Amino acid sequence: MISQKMKQMVEQSAAMSAMFTEGKRLAAIYGAENVYDFGIGNPNVKAPASVNATAIEILQNMDSLKVHSYTDSSGIPAARKAIAESLNRRFGTNYDESNLVMTVGAAGGLNVILKVLLDAGDEVLTFAPYFGEYDNYVMNVGGVLHPVPPNPPDFLPDVDALSACITPKTKAIIINSPNNPTGVIYDAGTIEKIAAVLRQKSAEYGTDIYIIADEPYRELAYDGVEVPYIPNFYENTIVAYSFSKSLSLPGDRIGYLVIPSTVADFAEVSMGAAIANRVLGFVNAPALQQMVVAKCCEETTDVAFYNANRELLYNALQEYGYSCAKPQGAFYLFVKALEDDDKAFCEKAKEYRLLVTPGSAFGCKGYVRISYCVARETIENSLPSFKALAESYKK
Ligand code: PLP
Repeated sequence: MISQKMKQMVEQSAAMSAMFTEGKRLAAIYGAENVYDFGIGNPNVKAPASVNATAIEILQNMDSLKVHSYTDSSGIPAARKAIAESLNRRFGTNYDESNLVMTVGAAGGLNVILKVLLDAGDEVLTFAPYFGEYDNYVMNVGGVLHPVPPNPPDFLPDVDALSACITPKTKAIIINSPNNPTGVIYDAGTIEKIAAVLRQKSAEYGTDIYIIADEPYRELAYDGVEVPYIPNFYENTIVAYSFSKSLSLPGDRIGYLVIPSTVADFAEVSMGAAIANRVLGFVNAPALQQMVVAKCCEETTDVAFYNANRELLYNALQEYGYSCAKPQGAFYLFVKALEDDDKAFCEKAKEYRLLVTPGSAFGCKGYVRISYCVARETIENSLPSFKALAESYKK
């Protein structure tokens, strides 16, 4: 018999897979081109050509035994060094390879760092709405995730509400900016306020509270908005980065943790991260991908493509009467549902062949997430459906 915990997860995942099956079912009836699937965050821009070229070059020219070997649990030193140097150029930091641990995407990095930091019963905070997998990642190591309530309509963190949520058991706060699902980017002033509250509470309780900055969308920022580099604001910050979205490599499972030397118990945290990579069964991040991103970490995806999708969809939805804070980053719109029950709204949307995700999956009822990392035509062709859906609520 499976565990009680897994039983719960199986039930919850059934809802997710129902969405995939629903997409297929609707596609079989109406034709794939007439079903508008805005459900998931799989990039629709190809990886830069240099990524494939680099992989080919490595495979053709390097000793195959070396390419496919196990690597250090923390990653290939040369890859960590190349990325550290790139970060130093971009953010004025002073990292070397000892500050980097290569991971199996951001998901791997988050699981690794939570394994390092948490004892059973420890608390982790995050601002709602949030990436729903955080619940599972924290639960994997016996911790408890406490979401700080959402702060609509702009969804910027409510720092007083954060302060009220911190207890002596608070080990970390996961901050995700640019945010999935809102697209909000936390400005420098907000980060400063968060840092001040964490310092004050750490001093009050005699604890170390870490920020875990989950940054898969760092490079997806629009209108020239800057994404503050959180380690430059708060000494106890660990960054979980990923190339899934920035280089469109979600299936290649490659990312890294940055553990600055300023974090509390740096030596143990960084040694712990290497061990956690191993004992969680990742062993090491994919070796070939480590070598590829070492060479391609300064490449960029086609942000202009996502930006054009954002403008098109946001402007059309505004015109049809939907309300939504204009996202500054990532590739999601977080739109107010046209009825209180977001799940019922998603069901209604299906009648118009629109697949969107209920906000309750992100700890924020009454909203839906629309993922616009899709083909331009999908958006163009879906607009009459969004319009008709809005009009159906005016009757
Ligand atoms: N964190 C957030 C906020 C995400 O949206 C995702 C993926 O969509 C992840 C982490 C996991 O990303 P990765 O593919 O790098 O594991």
